[in-house]
Amino acid sequence: MTSSPSPRSASVDPDLLCARAGLNAGDGEPLVGAIVQSTTFCRSDVDSTCTHQYSRVSNPTVSTLEDALGGLERALPAACFATGLAAETALFLALLKQGDHVVCGRSVYGGTTRLLRQVLCDFGVETTFVDATDIDDVAATLRPNTRLVFVETPANPTLDLTDLRAVADLTHAAGACLAVDNTFLTPVLQQPLDLGADVSIYSTTKFIEGHSTSLGGALVTRDDALLQRLRFIRKCTGAIQSPLNAWLTVQGLRTLPLRIRHQSVTATTVAAWLADQPAVRAVHHPSRLTGAPRDLAERQHLGAHGAVVTFDLRGGIDAARTFTAHLTLCRVVEHVGAIDTLITHPATMTHADVPIEQRRAVGITDGLLRLSAGLEPVDAIIADLDRALRAIRAEPTTQEARPCVATT
Ligand SMILES: *Cc1c(COP(=O)(O)O)cnc(C)c1O
Repeated sequence: MTSSPSPRSASVDPDLLCARAGLNAGDGEPLVGAIVQSTTFCRSDVDSTCTHQYSRVSNPTVSTLEDALGGLERALPAACFATGLAAETALFLALLKQGDHVVCGRSVYGGTTRLLRQVLCDFGVETTFVDATDIDDVAATLRPNTRLVFVETPANPTLDLTDLRAVADLTHAAGACLAVDNTFLTPVLQQPLDLGADVSIYSTTKFIEGHSTSLGGALVTRDDALLQRLRFIRKCTGAIQSPLNAWLTVQGLRTLPLRIRHQSVTATTVAAWLADQPAVRAVHHPSRLTGAPRDLAERQHLGAHGAVVTFDLRGGIDAARTFTAHLTLCRVVEHVGAIDTLITHPATMTHADVPIEQRRAVGITDGLLRLSAGLEPVDAIIADLDRALRAIRAEPTTQEARPCVATT
C-alpha cells in the first residue's frame, strides 16, 4: 500500500462522515437512529406537503443512508435500491430508449453483462463490449447514438484498470454519459465523480454493508435532473431499498473506512505470497502492477488498492475443484466485500452467464479464483491457502484442463 494525495476537498472527511452516519444528538433521542418500518405516513390534510408519503417513493431510514452516501462524494443524496442490479436497471431505464447504443467494458460484473445482453437488447438497446483499458478501443466504438458508457475499475474479476479521466473526456465529447461501477473500491478508495464520471454505481451488498446481511444498491450523481429521473423510475418500478436493509447498511458504513483499508493491506500481502507459489500461474491485484498501469492506480486510488485479489491456478478446473474443497477458513461463496475471506470461482459462479468467448477474451480461465480478503489475521488466511495449494500437489490432476460446465 502506498499513500497518494487525496483530491478530495478538505470539507468532507470521509472517516468522520462514516463514523457518524445515522447517529442522533438531540436530548433524550436514541443515540442510534431508529428504523422506520412504516409503509406510509400521515397527512394533516389533502394539501399536506410532508417529506415522506409512501415508502416505495421515500422513507426516512433510506434517506439517512442516501444522505451519507451522497455526502461521501460531495454529491446530491444517493438513490438507494433493493439490490445493485436494481440500481443498474433504473440507470438503464432512466437514460436509454429504443435505438440507443451502450458501450460497456467487457470486464464488468457478470450480472451487468447479462442484463445488457439478455434483457435490454430485447427493448432495442444495443451494447458493444470493449476493452476499457484501451482508450482507442473505447473511442472507436462510440457512435452518434451512444448514450451511455459503462465501466468498472478495477474490473471484475480481472482487476484491470480504466483511466476514468480519459474515458470521461471521450464520453462527454460524444455527448454520452459515463457510469462507473465503484463497488470494489467504494468512495473511500476511489471517487469516480471527481474523475469525470456522471454517476457512481454501488452494490452496497458488498463492502459498504460489509457483513453479508443485506442486499442493496446505490446511484450517486451531482446532476439534479438525472437524480429526479432516477427517483421517478424507482417509484414507477418499485425498486427502492427496504428500511431494515438500509438501516443495516448504515451500521456497516460506519466502519467502512477502517475495514476496507485494513482488508486492502491484507489483500496486498496475500497477493505477494500467492505470486511466489509454483501452482499459481498469475496473480492480479493493483499492488502488483508496474509501469503506466501502476501510475494510473496511484493516481486514481486513494491510498490503497482494494481487498479483491484474483489468481489463476495452473491446473485449471480440476485444480480449482481440489483447492476450493480443501479450504477451511476461507468460504467458497458468490460474494465479495464482507468481513470474512471469501473465494469465488467466476467461470462457474458470478460469470457463468457471460459467453465463453467473452470470458476467454478477458482472462476468466477455468482455473481463475477471486479472493476477497476479510478481517481474519493474514497469517491464518495464508495458512488456509497454503493447505489448499498442497492438496493440489497431493492430488495431481490431468494437466490438460477439462472444459468448465456452468452450474449457475
Ligand atoms: C454484486 C455486484 C453487483 C450486483 O449487485 P447485487 O447487489 O448483487 O444486485 C454489481 N456490480 C458489482 C461489481 C458487484 O460486485
